[in-house]
Amino acid sequence: MNIKNYLNNYSFPAHLTERSFVEAYKTKRMKTAVFPGSFDPITLGHYDIIKRGVSLFDKVIVAIGVNAEKKYMFPLEERLRFIQEAFATEPKVEVITYEGLTIDLCRKVGAGFILRGLRNPADFEFEKAIAHTNRQLSKIETVFLLTAASTSYISSSIVRDVLRHGGDYTILVPDSVRVK
Ligand code: ADP
Repeated sequence: MNIKNYLNNYSFPAHLTERSFVEAYKTKRMKTAVFPGSFDPITLGHYDIIKRGVSLFDKVIVAIGVNAEKKYMFPLEERLRFIQEAFATEPKVEVITYEGLTIDLCRKVGAGFILRGLRNPADFEFEKAIAHTNRQLSKIETVFLLTAASTSYISSSIVRDVLRHGGDYTILVPDSVRVK
């Protein structure tokens, strides 16, 4: 049903304003995906998946996982800033950090989908086990996008290697990723 028709036939309970009702209605119907990862740093591969995710979902939440046992090249604030700056003009993209299970985060932010990129058979095998587990534990669906041929070879670890050895990493990452 069209929301205007619905509202015309609806008498609002005292505690609900029309505005809050519309917000709640939209939130319920909104398709939100969480794109989880380390993003150490974000690459043109991630960028491509997020851009394409925006055309499929109402909102894409890029979620930077924090794992106390993992060593990162870039501090969390920097990884966050790189992504925020890369999508500064895209209102459908939100960037957050999280700890714990991705499905718990999805429940918290009201996301019904997890977005992941697939580069190769190794990614598939790894992702398959996680997606099956997540479906056993929740109703959240994982949506996979095949990576663009032009960026499928890029990984954050290659970017870090190029950086460590003083190579030109700028062709592998969005403009917001710059190291002084
Ligand atoms: P993780 O620590 O979960 O592997 P990454 O930051 O490496 O986090 O990757 C996050 C997601 O981005 C994963 O779904 C991964 O497959 C995808 N991804 C990584 N590199 C690329 C790429 N070059 N093209 C498309 N997707 C990619």
